[in-house]
Amino acid sequence: MKNWYKLLCGLLLAIQVVSAQTKNGKTFTIIPLGVKGGLDESNLSAYLLKPTGGTQYICLDGGTVRAGLQQAITHHVFPGRASDVLKSQVRAYFISHPHLDHVEGMLQNAPDDSAKALYGLPFCLNIIQDKYFNWKSWGNFADAGDPPALGKFRYMPMDSGVATPIADLDLEVSAYPLRHSAPGQSTAFLVKHQSSYLLYLGDTGPDALEGGNNLRQLWEAVSPILKARQLKGIMIETSFPNEQSDHALYGHLTPHWLMTELAVLDSLAGPGSLKGLPVLITHIKPVGNNEARIKVQLAKGNALGVKLLFPQQAQVITL
Ligand SMILES: [Zn+2]
Ligand SMILES: [Zn+2]
Repeated sequence: MKNWYKLLCGLLLAIQVVSAQTKNGKTFTIIPLGVKGGLDESNLSAYLLKPTGGTQYICLDGGTVRAGLQQAITHHVFPGRASDVLKSQVRAYFISHPHLDHVEGMLQNAPDDSAKALYGLPFCLNIIQDKYFNWKSWGNFADAGDPPALGKFRYMPMDSGVATPIADLDLEVSAYPLRHSAPGQSTAFLVKHQSSYLLYLGDTGPDALEGGNNLRQLWEAVSPILKARQLKGIMIETSFPNEQSDHALYGHLTPHWLMTELAVLDSLAGPGSLKGLPVLITHIKPVGNNEARIKVQLAKGNALGVKLLFPQQAQVITL
């Protein structure tokens, strides 16, 4: 009897959650732990992500972790203590590339962290293994590499373009390689929940400057999803304002180059497809009045009519 009652309550709750989700159409909940592209070590790229209604998160990049969680607690996004949230609610890191501004929070917190999966393309995990978790830069908290391997983090190398199911989270993630000022590389993660998708890009420059066609290949993979109206949003960098000259971009985007690249996606999916789509601008380099200039330039150059959003640390976004 008791079990039946529990089952019924669980079922009712599940129906409520699903209907709440479909009512407002919000599939993904994002909690930015850090949003900037440098300088401020308390606010570097890291984004918690979960299916709306769930309790467990993945963390896209790990630049700032604890300071971001503390801000989130101050803003009543979470109760309790940062280390408890990190240990009990963050299941896995997805690292786009091993630049310090994308991994330092993950590294710093490793001694006090709970067991987690560390997902990434092989190039990225190899660098983390060889250059950080090697007992010279830092202890080896992962499960391979220079002994003794403490085994707290499990390396989970991803195959390009292959959807990886994330156990218990009802999420699937596919990784796509990006260029980031050779020899630098980076990664885009396409996250799927049920029939909805969110696209997160690590640092990257435009194809025209990086050489190759990595972004074009990504846009080709994403365009059918956009066309089918299953894409909920794109998180992509705009590190510098348009005044930054092309040879000083070091694998980054400006408002001009972002809109140039988004125009490729728009034309692949059918002109007008991007209209109203949330585009979350990440990784602004906080130098001088860059942020204000980038916002003005993006608004001016937004012929595609995307919905420009500027994530702030600890401010919850639902898409
Ligand atoms: Zn970066
Ligand atoms: Zn970088």
